[in-house]
Amino acid sequence: MGQADAMNAFDRGAGSLCLDFVATLRDTSDQSVEMLSTPGDLAAWFELTGLPVAAGGLTVQDLHSAQALRAAVDAAARALIAGRQPGADDIRLINITGRHPTPVFFLSATGRAKIASAEPDTAATFSVIARDTINLLSGADLGRVRACSGCAALFFDRSPSGQRRWCSMRRCGEKAASANYRRRLAARA
Ligand SMILES: [Zn+2]
Repeated sequence: MGQADAMNAFDRGAGSLCLDFVATLRDTSDQSVEMLSTPGDLAAWFELTGLPVAAGGLTVQDLHSAQALRAAVDAAARALIAGRQPGADDIRLINITGRHPTPVFFLSATGRAKIASAEPDTAATFSVIARDTINLLSGADLGRVRACSGCAALFFDRSPSGQRRWCSMRRCGEKAASANYRRRLAARA
């Protein structure tokens, strides 16, 4: 997919950086949609999320590393919310990735731009995602990490009520609401 298309298609509604990252692969019962198919897609996601892209651009190797990290975050989170211990390989990959120093940013003179202090490498950018994962999974609010009632995508519930059920209203909430509405109409008829 082109860079502009990718930027428009990405969701940032999962409530946490690492779960937005996991949402770049949509795996539902009837279809699997890979949104990080090329290094350019990954660069587009980094940019959208405010993460630095290495000046030379990203490589296929970076893409494979991203997909491996994403699978580990997804598996570890799903294990935990199911009350199981995550796999050792998944924990190890998240930890090794998070060991790299993260990029350092400064405010520009106008105060409205972020400048990376040195040429960031991709390991540093992945480290941001891994550390977010470590904070989320070890944090007190693990009970707010849930799978969507519609498509099973993971999200972190930041709603005041803590009753969020959908990855997004647009994708799954409205679908469920209209199905309910049709059911009620049918019951009345
Ligand atoms: Zn959903």
